[in-house]
Amino acid sequence: MQYFDFRSDTTTHPTEKMRQAMASAKVGDDVYGEDPTVNALEEKAARMLGKERGLFVTSGTMGNLVAVMAHCARGEEAIMGRQGHTFLHEAGGVSVLGGVVIHTVPNQADGTIALQDLEAALRNPEDAHEPISKLVILENTQNACGGVPISLEYTRSAADFARKHKLLLHLDGARIFNASVALGKSASELAAPADSVTFCLSKGLCAPVGSVLCGNADFIHKAHRLRKILGGGMRQAGIIAAAGIVALDEMVERLAEDHLRAAALAEGIRGIPQIRLAKNSPQTNMVFFRLDENVRLSTPEFLAAMKQEGVLLMDSSPGEYRMVTHHGISDEAVECAVKAFRKVIG
Ligand SMILES: *Cc1c(COP(=O)(O)O)cnc(C)c1O
Repeated sequence: MQYFDFRSDTTTHPTEKMRQAMASAKVGDDVYGEDPTVNALEEKAARMLGKERGLFVTSGTMGNLVAVMAHCARGEEAIMGRQGHTFLHEAGGVSVLGGVVIHTVPNQADGTIALQDLEAALRNPEDAHEPISKLVILENTQNACGGVPISLEYTRSAADFARKHKLLLHLDGARIFNASVALGKSASELAAPADSVTFCLSKGLCAPVGSVLCGNADFIHKAHRLRKILGGGMRQAGIIAAAGIVALDEMVERLAEDHLRAAALAEGIRGIPQIRLAKNSPQTNMVFFRLDENVRLSTPEFLAAMKQEGVLLMDSSPGEYRMVTHHGISDEAVECAVKAFRKVIG
């Protein structure tokens, strides 16, 4: 059976062009800095993100981990949203491996963190009882708040706050190109206020593997050593970097199509009384919803029934479901999903 896989944009496959680029990629030993394809990807990514240098890493998780460890010493503290990926879904790596203290503060419904909450999280540097405040992490788009794009104005205000208090700002831009397309601002504009930014090639951009971490030369110099420590020094990595170059050249603008299909999916869902779409959903490529209380299906039953109809989706938190549009989701897939809802719960 063929499934339409709405679970995540990480399920995307490399395009034919990517496979060709991978097959013919020029490679060298990237641990020696000699892989021309990795170097080209890092330069391109740095240019697109408006930073001095880039570093190809295995995943978004490694990008955030390396960034936090480069910015913070053991016993220093990173302030981040309670709905942030680094807090929720990275196995506490910054604490486990970096000795960095995680200080969570609430995310507002629009994905931002209120400046007064950041202010209240600040530690007293003179008090030996307290860890040392060092870093603020923002996420754009903010995944768990609905794939919401974070405005440049807000990012600037958070960066101003950080600077005023001698903190650094890291931007988890796993889907920064979705934010860029949704807001009509370049990724470099959105990332400009941050000291470092990471983004995923392996999500909506369809590359099979990899993320790039970008920042100034000193930061990337530190990050390069940390990548090695974490086992992320890859040898002829140009094979996968080649797909990343195609991703940046060809797959950014088409994200607008994914946003349109998410809107179409939401429109279909609005017509079904037993489903309650999350407020303001969708804003990019993610649709969040809940089932009405009188729907008598448990979560596993609902997911299994949808699967029977050829539609894969997932629960994002108890009682809440997430569907993500991407290159593998056609108009037909959206129609099929809406039909499946009618059949399963209609
Ligand atoms: C997916 C994601 C990551 C991690 O990326 P992986 O490549 O899956 O490790 C980090 N942050 C956000 C917001 C993400 O959505």
